[in-house]
Amino acid sequence: MNVAHTIQTTTKTLFSFEILPPLKGKGIETIYNTIDPLMEYKPQFINITSHREVYDANNNRVRRRPGTVAIAGAISHKYNIPVVPHILCGGFNRKETEYVLLDLHFLGINNVLALRGDALRSDEPYTPEPEGNRYAQDLLRQIADMNKGKFIGDTDYNTSSPTHFSCGVAGYPEKHYAAPDLDTDILHLKEKQDAGAQYIITQMFFDNAHYFNFVAKCRAVGITIPIVPGIKPIGLKNQVDVLPKLFHIELPQDLDTALRACSDDEQAKQIGTQWAIMQAKELIAHNVPLLHLFTYSSAKQSVEIAKAVF
Ligand code: FAD
Repeated sequence: MNVAHTIQTTTKTLFSFEILPPLKGKGIETIYNTIDPLMEYKPQFINITSHREVYDANNNRVRRRPGTVAIAGAISHKYNIPVVPHILCGGFNRKETEYVLLDLHFLGINNVLALRGDALRSDEPYTPEPEGNRYAQDLLRQIADMNKGKFIGDTDYNTSSPTHFSCGVAGYPEKHYAAPDLDTDILHLKEKQDAGAQYIITQMFFDNAHYFNFVAKCRAVGITIPIVPGIKPIGLKNQVDVLPKLFHIELPQDLDTALRACSDDEQAKQIGTQWAIMQAKELIAHNVPLLHLFTYSSAKQSVEIAKAVF
């Protein structure tokens, strides 16, 4: 199933969610335990994040959460649901990217989220691998070539068998941290649409006004593809400081104050859930095509939200 088509043609707000591969050495059961209780709410697809190597405390490069492709295959097989693995530019050269995409093609997985990925260290500027894609739009062009049967090094691609990928991309209602301003970032987002992106999933935001403003600005520059809001339920008290720093977003003053007044994580989780439900209800009232929950490794809050709004 082509998830872009589902998002583009729906007449009511649908539901999808995103999970993290387990830490290296952990079993896949944690993934199934996350997915099982959410299946009742009829998700349209499940995204699986992707993680490049990072430096550990001993300065070794490690991949803490490998296995995106295999997990996508396992989920699609077990639940018979479309999966959307994330594909990164950072950490991979174009040949390695081609091999990953071919693995997905052979598994019958034709939906991907095309992303640049972040820098290797949080304090470094992002640098692509030698022979790697620099921006998400370059990755989209590589995928568009493969969809025409054009592979790296092919001299006669008329005889190749094309892939059939449908691509989503990321968007940032509060701008990407490296962009000089929101308008410039949106112009680069338009370039992703021009390079073949069929829908956008946004970064988390906690004030729906940011989403509505972003959509209006995107439409004004000719971005016509669906813009799916990404919702993150806050689950820990320290996320009041961690999330703005990590994701370059703002928390509304009311939410910030309420979280700081919490005595423990349980209270923070309740506030986070209620806030996400409030956001979701308003977004549904505005006929967004789909709500995408950043469930990651814990289903409990996503279940509460899905139960309250679907
Ligand atoms: P791009 O679209 O390439 O943009 C990156 C920056 O470059 C922006 O500032 C943009 O304005 C600028 N830019 C783009 N094109 C040009 C150009 N031609 N010239 C100059 N500047 C340009 N990260 C992970 O590592 N794994 C994940 O699984 C993952 N999942 C995500 C899911 C969602 C829904 C979202 C919103 C983000 C996710 N990320 C993930 C984070 C993402 O990889 C980072 O935010 C990354 O820094 C940017 O990725 P991008 O695809 O938006 O980049």
